[in-house]
Amino acid sequence: MNGASLIELESSLRAKDEHLVLKRDADMARCTTLHLGGPADLMASPSNAEQIQLLLMEAHRLNVPVTIIGNGSNLLVKDGGIRGLVIRVCRDMQAIEVSGDRIRVQAGAMMSTLSMAAADCHLGGLTFASGIPGTVGGGAYMNAGAYGGEMSQVVTLVEGFNMVGEPFRYGRPDMRFAHRYSRLMKENKLITHVTVQLPQGKREELLAEMVEFNRRRAEKQPLTQFSAGSTFKRPPEGYASQMVDECGLKGYTIGGAQVSEKHAGFLVNRGGTAADFLALMGYVQRVVYEQKGVMLEPEVRILGEDAPVARA
Ligand SMILES: Cc1cc2nc3c(=O)[nH]c(=O)nc-3n(C[C@H](O)[C@H](O)[C@H](O)COP(=O)(O)OP(=O)(O)OC[C@H]3O[C@@H](n4cnc5c(N)ncnc54)[C@H](O)[C@@H]3O)c2cc1C
Repeated sequence: MNGASLIELESSLRAKDEHLVLKRDADMARCTTLHLGGPADLMASPSNAEQIQLLLMEAHRLNVPVTIIGNGSNLLVKDGGIRGLVIRVCRDMQAIEVSGDRIRVQAGAMMSTLSMAAADCHLGGLTFASGIPGTVGGGAYMNAGAYGGEMSQVVTLVEGFNMVGEPFRYGRPDMRFAHRYSRLMKENKLITHVTVQLPQGKREELLAEMVEFNRRRAEKQPLTQFSAGSTFKRPPEGYASQMVDECGLKGYTIGGAQVSEKHAGFLVNRGGTAADFLALMGYVQRVVYEQKGVMLEPEVRILGEDAPVARA
């Protein structure tokens, strides 16, 4: 990609759809719960599937790389930012359609909004999602889950586009869900809609369960600090947080990045850089490997490029 393709992409998109929201040099720190990362060259916040198809087709035609994000709650964006086009499927795509025990939702709806909407219709199965601070698209992509529930239990259909703007539809078996995994993690496709099928439930009981899950979350997790949730995946040998804790790393700090004092599975940003955060991740992985023989794998998705090194 060269700078000219990016300028051509922006002007072509503006000419083809005057309502499309585009932003140059978008601050990625403001689009992630870790509050880290340099700028994205060009960010689009589409409000419907047609705009997404246009974005993908035009970026493909002009050879501009595309990065997809949701609410940025599982992302570490590096200090040099992201080159090319970032498509943010979030606040502007939140429509929810209920039909009997099925709900078809635009991928930018928050998981908490969907679980509340379901409870209002006396539908259960989504109370686990009420405290996960991500979008439904991000949740289906990552197979997000908590308290014994996960997206794979309720998703029946995932719709969207591949990177050249051709539509796809995957049923639950096609998604090949596993622990915090779906096939989309290998395929680079954009989710526009997710359909879930839910069991009946009583609204009051569902709301009470959500309150209880969120109480437990607030008790254990550093929710008042900047994080991306659990930094590492759960390894087959046990719990990442327990291993980090047993290695004496709670509170360990590199620059502005710290292993949370409240929950050793969460690394938090206390006003540092993505480089600090990556250095801390690497340090934790090394110590846990040396002491426990387990190589922790990141759960957070790492995007973008390092900041250029300043010359003396
Ligand atoms: C305090 C806190 C608590 C958390 N607790 C949990 C928890 O209990 N369980 C859990 O599973 N996670 C948890 N997380 C992590 C995070 O919220 C989930 O992984 C969530 O599903 C990510 O959704 P998102 O919209 O923020 O996606 P992002 O972080 O923006 O993106 C994550 C990945 O999904 C892809 N993606 C996002 N949207 C789309 C789309 N529309 N189409 C295709 N790909 C897409 C991105 O390319 C990226 O690779 C927590 C995070 C925080 C900060």
